[in-house]
Amino acid sequence: MEFMSNCLDDLQEKGLQRKIRYLDKPQSSFTVIDGKRILLLASNSYLGLCDDQRLKEAAIEAANNYGVGSGGSRLTTGSYKLHQELEEKLASFKGTGSALLFNTGYMANLGAIAAIADKEWTIFSDELNHASIIDGCKLSGAKVVIYKHCDMDDLLDKVKNYKGQKRLIISDGVFSMDGDIAPLPEIVNIARDNNILTMVDDAHGTGVLGKNGAGTVEYFNLKGKIDIQIGTLSKAFASEGGYIAGSKILIEYLRHRARSFIYSTALSPITIGIALKALEIIISEPNLRKNLLSNSKWLQERLLKLGFKVLESKTPIIPIIIGDAKMAVEISESLFKAGIYIPAIRPPTVPVNTSRLRITLMATHTIDDLQLALVELEQVIRGRGLV
Ligand SMILES: *Cc1c(COP(=O)(O)O)cnc(C)c1O
Repeated sequence: MEFMSNCLDDLQEKGLQRKIRYLDKPQSSFTVIDGKRILLLASNSYLGLCDDQRLKEAAIEAANNYGVGSGGSRLTTGSYKLHQELEEKLASFKGTGSALLFNTGYMANLGAIAAIADKEWTIFSDELNHASIIDGCKLSGAKVVIYKHCDMDDLLDKVKNYKGQKRLIISDGVFSMDGDIAPLPEIVNIARDNNILTMVDDAHGTGVLGKNGAGTVEYFNLKGKIDIQIGTLSKAFASEGGYIAGSKILIEYLRHRARSFIYSTALSPITIGIALKALEIIISEPNLRKNLLSNSKWLQERLLKLGFKVLESKTPIIPIIIGDAKMAVEISESLFKAGIYIPAIRPPTVPVNTSRLRITLMATHTIDDLQLALVELEQVIRGRGLV
């Protein structure tokens, strides 16, 4: 066990130790952490639905109708009418022939990539893709070729260098730590010209971008042009779970081949009931995402004016680059003391010397909330001579 304590000491020294914060109240614009009222600028619940009364009622209704635990894997006794209904509605939302639920977005990536690719395949993967894509690629045994972040010249060069019949390009739709959007139209063109499959993980885009909130594929008008779409129910949907959307053949194949689908107990009917209601809200209340994106624009403009190193984005993810990991933690701690939670994101989640404060907004934040954050941020960061 000595290697473990050495490792932990080392992390401590580099400012990379991680601490879990425990919430005492539901997750909304404000919550309570360690007994303290906190303005939350750290949630992936982009539409602010975690404490929504309609979702809570949907949970209770699902529990009353179908019970609590699912009781088995999807291929044995764990499939309820609700699972089927959600899969059908997700497919129609995403504009695909079919969809398949997984227990998390992480498991969707692991299961789908490893089911599709093997050592005869080459996978082209953006250097900032999510860890679950990286792990799925590793598990598949495919040759993985990393291209520079959103760099289409580099992707094209690599595509030309790695010929072959079995190839797949994978990208996040919205990049979780930078908040930028992948150049999907160019990816689709390169894939079409070179006969390559495409896969987009839209965990952060779904519910947030696109006319109906269907995500980056809709945002770029590319419905029907991406072969495999991955999503999560744990972010804008305020529930849990993941899914793959794609052609009927793809989904039927995954039902037979995706191990994380086959060998794990199905999601609880409660979780599914919540997700169904959230999907209804996402589709019928475009004002939520409009508000969210205008909040983001409002805050970015002001942060930039104050001299903060903001990575500009068209999403609710606003990274403020600090650089040093220890400094990022120190600032995050000071903000917490002032009643604001903005996490410090450090290596290995982001490259060395790009540690950052990562703000994520919710549709339910008010301008007053954001104003409060601005005042505290300015005080804390200016106090350290960082702007
Ligand atoms: C959050 C996230 C996932 C994982 O989804 P979970 O449902 O939380 O497991 C996968 N991909 C990306 C890009 C994500 O941001």
